[in-house]
Amino acid sequence: MDRRSVIKNTGLAGVLAAGAAPALVQAQANLRWRLTSGFPKALDTIYGAAETFSKKVKELTGGKFEISVHAAGELVPMPGIVDAVKNGTVEMAHTAPYYYFGKDETFALGCAIPFGLNSRQMSAWMYDGNGLKLMREFYKQYDIMSFPMGNTGAQMGGWFRKEIKTVNDYKGLKFRVGGFAGKVIERLGGVPQNIPGGEIYQALEKGTIDAAEWVGPYDDQKLGFFKVAPFYHYPGWWEGGPQLDLYINQKAYDSLSSEYKAIVECAAAYAHTEMQAKYDARNPGALKQLVANKAKLVAFPKPVMDAAFKESMALYSELSAKNPSWKKVYEDYSKFRADSNLWFRFTEARFDSFMQGAKL
Ligand code: CA
Repeated sequence: MDRRSVIKNTGLAGVLAAGAAPALVQAQANLRWRLTSGFPKALDTIYGAAETFSKKVKELTGGKFEISVHAAGELVPMPGIVDAVKNGTVEMAHTAPYYYFGKDETFALGCAIPFGLNSRQMSAWMYDGNGLKLMREFYKQYDIMSFPMGNTGAQMGGWFRKEIKTVNDYKGLKFRVGGFAGKVIERLGGVPQNIPGGEIYQALEKGTIDAAEWVGPYDDQKLGFFKVAPFYHYPGWWEGGPQLDLYINQKAYDSLSSEYKAIVECAAAYAHTEMQAKYDARNPGALKQLVANKAKLVAFPKPVMDAAFKESMALYSELSAKNPSWKKVYEDYSKFRADSNLWFRFTEARFDSFMQGAKL
């Protein structure tokens, strides 16, 4: 039966009910996609951002666009994520771009670099500065479309068996640290260690490593590091506001209707906001409990921060001289960082420092 005879026999209402109108079929297709997370389920705030995203997409499409979320390693191990999205093994991934700095250091600029942007500044650079535009240009060679999807806020500096008093204490220090920061730790004389979350406690307990950083009070507390490495240094100068990204295979993204594209964008932005909110709401209570459990809160001494800052800036100059894509993105990033800090020091920083010193 051709289309005209369908209309003749059933009327337009019948055609619509049968779902035969091409525009409607295009806009409301049923889709089943897979998303691999770069994280284990135990990191419920981080892993949960991908679940929030998937739930919102499902709700906004009346159940027609379903995305199953898989923990790291279930479909793809974390280090294989960029290739898996590029090849279309999975349509989507949620991960921390700085894990892939071995492919190209530019990945780190879409996530966190030592002494980089804080969480607010990162969102500003992404959504209203050139950040998202520049990172998407960079990701084109990997056939990846990206959206910001979560931030932890400034992290803690980690758990140390011995207190860091001078920069010399980094010499030979075996320090478990995630991502790009290891490059600066090395320049300070430390030995960065790449150990998955589940194995850190034992390595610290045995003394196979001297220190480990993870995230912040809420996540760190669950892993119990305070029992084996009591000095809890702050701040995590290498992660002032690490952003996570939603990666989408470019072809898969291009195949979406404009309606679904808008839904993906909005759901990712919602998950982005919610993850930071969860950390900001949950870290204070966890920090209190850690201190009650005898964690010793110690700030990194200013000379240690200064030495790390100096090494970081030297590293960025070297990278700019040899990696054109780093140079292109970092030039914009560093200008944004300078301008943003000039502004934040007046209102945000002044207000925060007054409030945090006030008796409440
Ligand atoms: Ca960390």
